[in-house]
Amino acid sequence: MIEIQNVTKVFGAGDSAFTALRDVSVTIAENEFFTLLGPSGCGKTTLLRLIAGFEPPTMGAILLSGRDISRLPPNKRPVNTVFQNYALFPHMSVAQNIAFGLEMLGKPKAEVQSTVDEMLRLVRMEELKDRRTSEISGGQQQRVALARALAPHPEVLLLDEPLSALDLKLRKEMQIELKRLQSETGITFVFVTHDQEEALTMSDRVAVMSAGRILQIGSPQEIYQRPAERFVANFIGESNFLDATLAGDGVTLAGDDATYPVNRPEGVTDGKVSVLVRPEHIGIGGDTGLSAKMETIVYSGEATVAHLRLPDGTAIKARLSNTPQGRGDLPAEGETTTISIAPGAITVLRD
Ligand code: ADP
Ligand code: MG
Repeated sequence: MIEIQNVTKVFGAGDSAFTALRDVSVTIAENEFFTLLGPSGCGKTTLLRLIAGFEPPTMGAILLSGRDISRLPPNKRPVNTVFQNYALFPHMSVAQNIAFGLEMLGKPKAEVQSTVDEMLRLVRMEELKDRRTSEISGGQQQRVALARALAPHPEVLLLDEPLSALDLKLRKEMQIELKRLQSETGITFVFVTHDQEEALTMSDRVAVMSAGRILQIGSPQEIYQRPAERFVANFIGESNFLDATLAGDGVTLAGDDATYPVNRPEGVTDGKVSVLVRPEHIGIGGDTGLSAKMETIVYSGEATVAHLRLPDGTAIKARLSNTPQGRGDLPAEGETTTISIAPGAITVLRD
């Protein structure tokens, strides 16, 4: 559906030139919920603006259904955008806000009316259609902004951190709501967020970005369970990084005789490597494993997080699910214990 081919974007020129995107290539499928995830300033909005047509690429091309749209103005692209600040008209009603874009396109009155009704139903805002948008809640404004963007039936909807202004509970509700909207409309969503949990919850696939580059593209499971490099592992979820020695299909860890089977990433050779183990894959107090000192135990509701330290000084975090009885069987703070790693839980990183 959308092919981004070797796109580079440079702002300014000469000494003040700044490269916001470097040789970015990605293909987004029809009907896909695709997320661009990365820290602030990594180029997410810039890439969306290029897809929308607000900026031309400096190099490379953007194709939509096989057609090069790189030089097409925004209003000629079957693409619409939901902005972070919604940009609603506060003095207009909910229905008028949704109708506005359709009227600008010169749609006949009856068609505008029926589309507005359809959109009000879709975002469940029928009851508030005559309210001014200055008189509805943030979550409701979000729904109106979505309805307005969906009203012209775009092929692609671009969403730039649309949930970031909402409080946590509402944000979680809207995440589910957006998934529903996407599957009901069948529209391709390109969603931007810096929130890794949001990306994992909502997306079919995620592109992890850093400093103008895409580092990894994959399903939420792939990028969480098999991050290719340290930045991705660190940015997504919580991580323990350990020094290891890779030989063939196994790694050994300092202070442990065991060999752990691993998948070798492309381009990584035998020898010293850095490996990832997620905190929920570490057990405590088994008969075998690495010696470690318990430092702090933190109760966090659904889990207990234990902070430990290996003899070489490496900090280790273990996340243990709480049972209905809580968790009373951990070594005391200050005690020396062992940590064990679940089978298959070690990922070799290419850093
Ligand atoms: P993100 O959305 O991931 O936070 P942006 O795409 O907005 O990041 O910005 C990426 C980088 O490009 C930032 O360093 C930003 O300052 C820079 N940038 C964005 N737009 C412009 C512009 N019009 N002129 C110069 N620099 C820009
Ligand atoms: Mg941005």
